[in-house]
Amino acid sequence: MIFKFDGKETGKRGNMARKDEQIVYGTRSDITDEGFFFACHPGVPCFTKCCRNPDMYLYPYDMIRLKHRLDMDSDALLEKYTYTAVRDNPYFPHVMLKMAESAQKPCPFLTPQGCSVYEDRPFSCRAYPVEPALSRDGQSENADRYYIVRHPYCHGHEQDRYHTAAQWIADQGLESFVAHNRRWAAVDTLLRRNNWGDQGLAHPGVKMVFMASYNMDRFRRFVFNSSFLNRFALDDDRLHAIQSRDTDLMHLGFDWIEFMLAGTGPLAECRKK
Ligand code: SF4
Ligand code: SF4
Repeated sequence: MIFKFDGKETGKRGNMARKDEQIVYGTRSDITDEGFFFACHPGVPCFTKCCRNPDMYLYPYDMIRLKHRLDMDSDALLEKYTYTAVRDNPYFPHVMLKMAESAQKPCPFLTPQGCSVYEDRPFSCRAYPVEPALSRDGQSENADRYYIVRHPYCHGHEQDRYHTAAQWIADQGLESFVAHNRRWAAVDTLLRRNNWGDQGLAHPGVKMVFMASYNMDRFRRFVFNSSFLNRFALDDDRLHAIQSRDTDLMHLGFDWIEFMLAGTGPLAECRKK
């Protein structure tokens, strides 16, 4: 279901899979102790097939990477390249990558040469076929496990290049994505509760949490132009960091969401009385 803030549509029906289209889900198996064979290059017969009509979630750190890559304001990025949809979590919408409208619904970043945002491609493209387990409490031993996802159309699995999961994470530049997404997974867990009561997704808190997760330009203006800094005593290093780096601001957003929804976390410690 496409989600609308204030009745204003944030995505178009045409970007969702139509009823006659099949989203092909992959099978998943644990490769933590085994490694896997895989290669993806222009020579595979399926090259860029997975860039056509992928059902792709964007995570907060993906938004930051794309925003900087494309030199866009968060609002413009959200408007042009994403839509919001309620999927498996009825209490909070997800941000999804909006496909181009042409017949095969290619990713808007796909060119005849391949991915035009390759160095800043989102986590899901970057990690495939490996799926790092993201522990929802940040502590479970499961956090060090890795899975491999196999889609029937993907010939990369027939290639004879062997990797361990750890090598793949390093080779694909995934460390920072995994680190940011682990913190996000803990926040996302809080968002899977009904925090909004009878108002549901119409609750004003939904908009605030969405801003603090996915819209760093608006969130920065909010932090510096509202009473936020009168309510929390941030030290000078953190103040400087959130002024100059979107990733630090994003983590402030995660801390704020935790404080709002659970009353815990770093902002509970520095709350002004
Ligand atoms: S971002 Fe790049 S790799 Fe990912 S689906 Fe789009 S074109 Fe393909
Ligand atoms: S090998 Fe798999 S990941 Fe690579 S282009 Fe083909 S379908 Fe996509």
